[in-house]
Amino acid sequence: MSGSDIAAALNDVQTRITAKCRAAKRDPAGVTLIAVSKTHGAPEIEAALAAGQRHFGENRVQEAEDKWPAFKAKMPDICLHLIGPLQTNKVGDALALFDVIHTLDRPKLAEKLADDLAKKPRPLRCFIQVNTGREPQKAGIDPMEADAFIASCRAMPFELKGLMCIPPVHEQAALHFAFLREIAVRNHLTHLSMGMSDDFETAIAFGATHVRVGSAIFGARN
Ligand SMILES: *Cc1c(COP(=O)(O)O)cnc(C)c1O
Repeated sequence: MSGSDIAAALNDVQTRITAKCRAAKRDPAGVTLIAVSKTHGAPEIEAALAAGQRHFGENRVQEAEDKWPAFKAKMPDICLHLIGPLQTNKVGDALALFDVIHTLDRPKLAEKLADDLAKKPRPLRCFIQVNTGREPQKAGIDPMEADAFIASCRAMPFELKGLMCIPPVHEQAALHFAFLREIAVRNHLTHLSMGMSDDFETAIAFGATHVRVGSAIFGARN
């Protein structure tokens, strides 16, 4: 997509977010739009930055390292979100670049994050990913283990913001958004990372505070 297409698409998504918030009697300021730029290059990212977008999502540490350090050096208000699985041996690299991790999904990863933060203190916000559909191939803590994992993460040296999910492709996303919200509410967590290009409006109706939107902004991925 051209730069002006990306600016128009961003504007369109933001307008839809605002309309959905109004309909749900929510403050639009309570929903952060994360532009998911995975697979897209510098020209697309520059177009989004020029349009005022500052929150971006990437799913691979290596790809983000190739793309983001230069932008972050120029624009310190960029907020970079890791939305893909994180291997423990990549934690150091991830902490050097990302501001928010949406995919904290197992005790071993929480411990590794804590270890690295103890050595090199810095602010880090995390979402716990919950495998709401209990899909074997998908990352995320099992919903049955979520309460205990959330409790253990509260003692960690990062800020636990809330919960994240990726609903199964062939199921009604709304059921999963409602389920994730239920787990968050009973654990007094206030933030929900849920909703993508096809279902961010539904997610907002169910309380999403962070929507992760890729193709509706940047077009189809290569
Ligand atoms: C790719 C991706 C998105 C964005 O998906 P679109 O359908 O292109 O909006 C959101 N969340 C995660 C975890 C992703 O990997």
